[in-house]
Amino acid sequence: MTKGPLTIRLCGPRGFCAGVDRAIQIVVLALKRYGAPVYVRHEIVHNRYVVEGLEALGAVFVEELDEIPAEHREQPVVFSAHGVPKSVPADAEKRNLFYLDATCPLVSKVHKQAMRHQRLGRHVVLIGHAGHPEVIGTMGQLPEGAVSLIETVEEAENYAPTDPDNLGYVTQTTLSVEDTAAVIAKLQERFPKLMAPAADSICYATTNRQEAVSAAAPGCDLFIIVGAPNSSNSRRLVEVARRAGASDAILVQRATELDFEAIGNIGTLGISAGASAPEVVVNEIIEAFRARFDARLELAETAIENEHFLVNRELRDMELTVEDMAFVNGR
Ligand code: SF4
Repeated sequence: MTKGPLTIRLCGPRGFCAGVDRAIQIVVLALKRYGAPVYVRHEIVHNRYVVEGLEALGAVFVEELDEIPAEHREQPVVFSAHGVPKSVPADAEKRNLFYLDATCPLVSKVHKQAMRHQRLGRHVVLIGHAGHPEVIGTMGQLPEGAVSLIETVEEAENYAPTDPDNLGYVTQTTLSVEDTAAVIAKLQERFPKLMAPAADSICYATTNRQEAVSAAAPGCDLFIIVGAPNSSNSRRLVEVARRAGASDAILVQRATELDFEAIGNIGTLGISAGASAPEVVVNEIIEAFRARFDARLELAETAIENEHFLVNRELRDMELTVEDMAFVNGR
């Protein structure tokens, strides 16, 4: 059977950001230094493939610290890249646990900005998605009642603060740049004295991935975002692809999920990956299309990223090899 022609526009940057890379490295290095089990509170990054890969190496994922058995108290527990409320390290200390914090430095920066607003006497408005671990972590940096969460323009329209002249905002790092700008504009229109954070909260990786998808989407019959349904930045990329002109956009975790009958005879396919999606899965999806189409790969690159975050001090002397990370990066 002859294969139909297919142009694949592969976005760059895509996939792992410096914060996710660092979080995975921390677990891998902790396993090398302290041996299994290494406990991880919450999915280290929102990706099943990564979680299962780390489980295979000896990581044990828990939702709360009380799930760690008393006889393993000496083993480290790693906090996920999304950040944790202040009560979590405090609880770990109370339980005499040894913890390694894998919170992305850019999330920690948002925590600091929120604390700065509060120090300056402002009520903090956090723009983000209710229930997301990053939002729970950011809200948990300040006492109860010090932060109000706003998700949408409608909520910004109806927000009724007690002191409208004394507000400061921060945002979740992985939001849609466009939607967030609309929420901020509405808040600024209603509360002209609203103070911005000293630096943008939406991180470079979120912005770059959205820009690359936006540039590649026009003319695509289908846009695939590799990522998990609970990954906020991946879901935003699906929305960006649709808005920017792709005829359809879907979120895919593994190649086995692809329904080629439903996909049919497409001519141009866009591919990108959320910040927590490993490159091995991107490759797996490209290969699945190559098996069925006469595919030509085009790199749709809009930025080059050089960010790199150091792992925790306790692990900096450890050697990390290409083989150690091969389960996510391929070789
Ligand atoms: S998406 Fe941004 S904030 Fe989140 S881990 Fe990556 S670099 Fe850090």
